[in-house]
Amino acid sequence: YAPDDGLLVLNDLRKEFGGLTAVDDLSFVVEEGEILGFIGPNGAGKSTTFNCVTGAYAPTSGSVHYHGEDVTGEPAYEMVKRGMARTFQSFKPLDDRTVLRNVALALAPDKLFSLSGLRGETEERARELCERVGLGDRVHQTPDELPHAGLLRLELGRALATDPDLLLVDEPFAGLSSGEVAELSDLLTDLRDEGITLVVVDHNMRGLLSLIDRAIVIQFGAKIAEGTPEEIRNDETVQEAYLGG
Ligand code: ADP
Ligand code: MG
Repeated sequence: YAPDDGLLVLNDLRKEFGGLTAVDDLSFVVEEGEILGFIGPNGAGKSTTFNCVTGAYAPTSGSVHYHGEDVTGEPAYEMVKRGMARTFQSFKPLDDRTVLRNVALALAPDKLFSLSGLRGETEERARELCERVGLGDRVHQTPDELPHAGLLRLELGRALATDPDLLLVDEPFAGLSSGEVAELSDLLTDLRDEGITLVVVDHNMRGLLSLIDRAIVIQFGAKIAEGTPEEIRNDETVQEAYLGG
């Protein structure tokens, strides 16, 4: 792909851990304004791909272009500055701080251990972010008082604090009821409609196919299918991979 074929462009991305190839020369494009599903069985290399894109890991080889610029191997804080944010599959909010404070810390991390209260402006922005992710009436609770779906919302609020134009969401639906999946899907759709491009990871396709505009399916670190939800649903290679055929 050409560097400006999309907002994010991966070419022959590869990540090896010792003898294990977690990401195997993976190439794909994320188009501006879409919700892209990034689907694959457990261990397929989804999180490792995210880690290589967001600067947590240096790829073994291949390239990553963002906004047309070569950002391969740049550290995570540079990617955040460039407008990329992510959520983590397992994340740990500070349970002794309120929801509001946890979001505020993503806005102003240097205030982490300050004893003084939040500055007015930071507090106001944190409150807006909490409302945006549906936690407006829980700002004074602590994270351990939230249901799992609420923790995901908190994690999204923290990711949105960096004002991203690309948001990578790792396995948001694991452990949620179908009602919670639908509510969270609505939130992600709203974010897309507000202009944020999203990549949403899942290890199964149920639920995800109704949310996404397009999907990439990977297995053993390599792309096995790509297309609209309809095309993915009918793809024989995908059906075999998922039925263990
Ligand atoms: P997924 O997110 O699709 O479930 P991962 O990207 O987490 O898959 O893992 C892909 C493969 O890479 C797995 O075999 C996993 O054990 C391995 N792996 C992931 N991270 C590391 C690491 N830091 N060190 C060694 N192996 C890893
Ligand atoms: Mg993963």
